[in-house]
Amino acid sequence: MRPFAHVRAASLEQAIAVTARTPDARFLAGGTTLFDLMKLNVEAPSTVVDITTLPDLQDIAVGRRGLVVGAMAKMADVADHREVGARYPALAESLGKAASQQLRNMATVGGNLLQRTRCAYFRGGASYACNKRDPGSGCAAIGGADRNLALFGTSASCIANYPGDWAVALVAFDAEIEVLGPRGLRRIPAETLYREPGATPHIETVLEPGDLVIRIHVPASPALRASTYHKIRDRASYAFALVSAAVGVDVAGGRIRDVRIALGGVGARPLRVRDAEAVLKGQVFTRALAIEAGEAAMRGARTSAHNAFRVPLGVQTVADAIGIAMERT
Ligand SMILES: Cc1cc2nc3c(=O)[nH]c(=O)nc-3n(C[C@H](O)[C@H](O)[C@H](O)COP(=O)(O)OP(=O)(O)OC[C@H]3O[C@@H](n4cnc5c(N)ncnc54)[C@H](O)[C@@H]3O)c2cc1C
Repeated sequence: MRPFAHVRAASLEQAIAVTARTPDARFLAGGTTLFDLMKLNVEAPSTVVDITTLPDLQDIAVGRRGLVVGAMAKMADVADHREVGARYPALAESLGKAASQQLRNMATVGGNLLQRTRCAYFRGGASYACNKRDPGSGCAAIGGADRNLALFGTSASCIANYPGDWAVALVAFDAEIEVLGPRGLRRIPAETLYREPGATPHIETVLEPGDLVIRIHVPASPALRASTYHKIRDRASYAFALVSAAVGVDVAGGRIRDVRIALGGVGARPLRVRDAEAVLKGQVFTRALAIEAGEAAMRGARTSAHNAFRVPLGVQTVADAIGIAMERT
């Protein structure tokens, strides 16, 4: 047992101040990632700052201008919210298809954004080299069991993928992450929250010590109404994505006026794929065009013998997601 201090935050300001001055401190939300990694000895914070009792961070507000979700809202509450399901289907589906019902009841949407890779070498502990867990130690995944790891945004230091679902839908629909930290309040586009590994894979986001995610803002858009989150995995539920696609379309006069596409499971971070969007914009939908968009989305993938199957799978996933979104127009 490794001792650590447990601080129950009395206010946002106190939570931020304690975490800012203790660089290895961690906020505790649902604990479904944090406690997991502490038990695996992958994370060993000296201080855990419990934010579960902070008020006003659980709200889910659906308005004319968009959706605002408090970071401490439970995944299950957002996934099952009637208006979110009706007006923001891709967002509700991305949460509903994540983890298990028990986990979704416990886990928060803020914590979901900041979950860490499921790379087995990262989670496996000290017996494996991992630059993300132990900077400078190497990467046992390169040339190893990389079936589920990243095809995009990798580096010579790390090929881990970002495993979450919710962030993929947020990236597709231009969401912003509202953060309160030692520097005050700011909003970060979901697309720029995550960093690619480069030579510093242990630095995963642009957040700084003490930065607390407080809300997520998703602007309303016609493309969101006809949207879907299509997730392909090894079994029908309770599994991470081999590849996923968040897609929304807005059709006017028979032509695709606006389209949003983001890829999940295959990147070091969630990926907005604008080349794929460009294939569809202004066009009349056909299955052939959807396949072409899928090919554009998966272009440039770096594969190995274990994971090359995820390229054609990705093409089909994107094409099928476009088809599902079109049926919702
Ligand atoms: C078996 C299993 C299967 C899973 N399957 C999936 C899946 O298919 N898809 C998927 O998307 N996820 C999946 N997950 C991940 C799960 O969704 C996350 O563990 C969960 O969303 C994390 O939320 P939490 O509230 O429990 O976060 P915590 O564990 O409390 O925190 C996670 C991290 O975020 C930080 N943090 C938490 N809240 C904030 C905040 N407001 N501001 C700043 N930092 C914060 C914490 O310090 C910690 O570093 C799975 C998890 C498990 C255990």
